[in-house]
Amino acid sequence: MKNSNAALELINIHKCYGNLEVLKGVSLTAQKGDVISILGSSGSGKSTLLRCINLLERPNQGEIIIGNEQLALIPDKNGELKAQDKRQLERLRSRLGFVFQQFNLWPHMTILQNLIEAPVHVLKVPRDVAVARAQELLRKVGLADKQDAYPGHLSGGQQQRVAIARTLAMDPQVLLFDEPTSALDPELVNEVLAVMRELAEEGRTMLIVTHEMRFAREVSSSVVFLHQGQIEETGSPEKVFDNPESQRVRDFMASHQ
Ligand code: ADP
Ligand code: MG
Repeated sequence: MKNSNAALELINIHKCYGNLEVLKGVSLTAQKGDVISILGSSGSGKSTLLRCINLLERPNQGEIIIGNEQLALIPDKNGELKAQDKRQLERLRSRLGFVFQQFNLWPHMTILQNLIEAPVHVLKVPRDVAVARAQELLRKVGLADKQDAYPGHLSGGQQQRVAIARTLAMDPQVLLFDEPTSALDPELVNEVLAVMRELAEEGRTMLIVTHEMRFAREVSSSVVFLHQGQIEETGSPEKVFDNPESQRVRDFMASHQ
């Protein structure tokens, strides 16, 4: 029996680029409301793992279960898994919200237009409903006064908060963050982390790749440390940060104080 509280399960995910195996059998489960931080050195496979979850990268082996529904995967001639049913893939993808290092807002649209575009055109939400929801989300991320501005007139921190609001506008069940503050000037990092902290406290299910160690320690329900495409250590933040078993994790923590 699958655990009915699991929002996301990855089972034995493998990913190769040519001869390079960058994920060597990664499994993890996020229960509803879990905040899982994924740590590890550059090149350890963190982004690839996140991207495999919605088949932005196609794994060579493994199972993906989103909200208790297993994504039906079949191998193609390159030995990569593809979705058996495109509609199922679209449906499962719509349960995931991605926030990337680069905010990727549409530069020619106002902030409000950025937020309502997908709800109106993809989800077919009535425009007035989408506008009301977008305004509520802008209030939530502290940018109610920016709805008519263009992205280019906002700071990086403000743009990333808009990008988070835009993701929330699609009402995803799981939020995936890939180094959301890495492109920001240091003084803008905290305003984005504050929004993420609020989402964590609301009980959202989140997977977060980050180098913000203090933040990860404070908000995570569990921490996963990746090394060369494998889970080197996992556990509570207290265990992984303060008392790791692995020497590698100890060294990493010592150099990321
Ligand atoms: P991280 O996010 O932890 O820094 P990545 O998942 O980006 O690591 O990369 C893991 C490994 O896979 C690295 O060695 C990287 O060079 C390699 N890699 C990532 N994407 C590709 C690709 N599209 N083609 C070939 N190699 C890739
Ligand atoms: Mg990365």
